[in-house]
Amino acid sequence: MLKYCLLTGASRGIGHATVKVLQAEGWRVLTVSRQSFSDECRWPMARESHIQADLADLAAIPALAAEVRSRLAGGQLAALVNNAGISPKGKGGGRLGVSQTGVDIWSQVLNVNLVSIALLVRELLPELTLAKGSIVNVTSIAGSRVHPFAGTAYAASKAGLAALTRELAHEFGPRGVRANAISPGEISTSIVSPGTDGLVQREVPLQRLGTAEEVARTIHFLCTDAAAYINGAEIHINGGQHA
Ligand code: NAD
Repeated sequence: MLKYCLLTGASRGIGHATVKVLQAEGWRVLTVSRQSFSDECRWPMARESHIQADLADLAAIPALAAEVRSRLAGGQLAALVNNAGISPKGKGGGRLGVSQTGVDIWSQVLNVNLVSIALLVRELLPELTLAKGSIVNVTSIAGSRVHPFAGTAYAASKAGLAALTRELAHEFGPRGVRANAISPGEISTSIVSPGTDGLVQREVPLQRLGTAEEVARTIHFLCTDAAAYINGAEIHINGGQHA
């Protein structure tokens, strides 16, 4: 039986690295991004496995789930990795605090980073239950402490996603569906802000950025039987930044 993973936000960064790790471990990966298809995605079956969808459009989530269902030929949805996320910045890359955050930004960020995930899980629950699947949500260090570059709406969305992860674990554990989160710190991707180098020197005991592949390996671990009794956890991948 083929093991499928649905991974959102695959076109760059952590998502990109996660596709590569999962494929190398024998998974079929269906990807979702806003873009039609990125030529950067040069892995086997990349074009055929891609589904274009805007997660900010909550009304379109049932259609996305139907499309996923139609692509599970000969296999089961053994993992759902909710990685897509947005972190809007102010002028010059500045942090958007409460005073700078209007209703449009609040709804865009909460819809993409939080609400779409709850709705996608709800739609795909029959498939995840059948597979006794694993849900992995990508939160952030900004969800549990004030971060100098991440904004208010982003931080609140990621704190909400940590709470949603516990709720999913509680509600769907009895069906054999596990839900966990991984919380990256400063990872080397395009989302990283100018000034991160200084932050890393001051605050990260390991004195370097993390790599997308290091994050991807933890996501993969949570999708496997090696993590069979891990449910409702949030694993911090931040080089000791909390220490
Ligand atoms: P990235 O910006 O490189 O990639 C984000 C992905 O999400 C892209 O593939 C994009 O197409 C997709 N996406 C964004 N909005 C979407 C929408 N409306 N619909 C569908 N897809 C959408 O980001 P990254 O650095 O790889 O981050 C991945 C995840 O990790 C995010 O959830 C982010 O918040 C989290 N994170 C990253 C860091 C870091 O240092 N890079 C730190 C903490 C948390």
